[in-house]
Amino acid sequence: MISASWIAERLAKDSPSSPSSPKPTIVNQGRLGSMIKLLLLGGTTEAIALANHLKEIDISATVSLAGRTAKPEKIPLPTRIGGFGGVNGLVHYLATQQITHVVDATHPFAAQISRHAIAACRQVHIPLVALTRPPWSAAANDQWTRIPSYEAAAKLLTGPARRVFLAIGRTNLNKFSEHQQHHYLLRFAEQPSALPPFRDCQVLIARGPFTQAADITLLREHRIDLIVAKNSGGTGAQSKILAARDLKIPIIMIDRPQIEERPQTYNLQAVIHWLFLNPTNLGV
Ligand code: NAP
Repeated sequence: MISASWIAERLAKDSPSSPSSPKPTIVNQGRLGSMIKLLLLGGTTEAIALANHLKEIDISATVSLAGRTAKPEKIPLPTRIGGFGGVNGLVHYLATQQITHVVDATHPFAAQISRHAIAACRQVHIPLVALTRPPWSAAANDQWTRIPSYEAAAKLLTGPARRVFLAIGRTNLNKFSEHQQHHYLLRFAEQPSALPPFRDCQVLIARGPFTQAADITLLREHRIDLIVAKNSGGTGAQSKILAARDLKIPIIMIDRPQIEERPQTYNLQAVIHWLFLNPTNLGV
């Protein structure tokens, strides 16, 4: 039996974090590749990059999206949209679609689907690996207050009025609605369906990746003196962290939710290696 820690160790040894060459290092020749039927849980740039790579090496895969985005980016593989209906629904999907492998490339804050994937794969003995990105870490002079949850971050917003860049996406704004004394700057990829729950706020609609220089300008123009962010990691949303470093703006940084230990990698190419190792039981 191949253990989770063994796979995790193998994956950790692989580098770099993206394919070093546009050509796949493993060519999908013959039986092994054709036996794979992958479910790729998506909603991230990592998932799109992996989908492109799977298409290139001709691995059969379906990408699953939650359906939160009205206009998702183009994906070159068959795509299904919407929840599975909890763990049982996912188990049913895996069994009926005869899925052989699951790659969880969801966002680090999408903890529920990740927990469901662990539970469902365990039930039906399908190997699972997570493709994710390293969290950001504070540099020497950064003024970060690390906090475990949205609720804990909101508690830090009692006190006098400030100009806050609330960079947490659309879904958890209500947790901050008690604190109406502040001016909030909000940035969303798409127009929200409901008005933000703040008396004094400005909404920007813009899709990343953003640049450090543009975010320095943004923070200056809006006279931001506090940022609330979640530790998504990766490069797409990092510009505001770098801009805050430059302008010495404090950040309330929400830590990632805890997810049970599972085989995990930051490296797209390692996922391809893992697929071809074709483990039968990861014991996750
Ligand atoms: P979540 O809280 O972990 O998931 C809530 C429910 O949405 C899940 O139980 C599942 O419904 C469904 N779901 C989530 N991801 C799915 C997927 N890839 N395919 C099918 N169903 C999915 O997730 P979330 O935080 O709402 O995020 C939703 C999606 O947006 C994720 O795919 C994530 O990658 C992406 N995203 C999230 C964030 C973030 O900050 N949370 C940021 C960028 C992108 P059932 O229980 O019915 O199966």
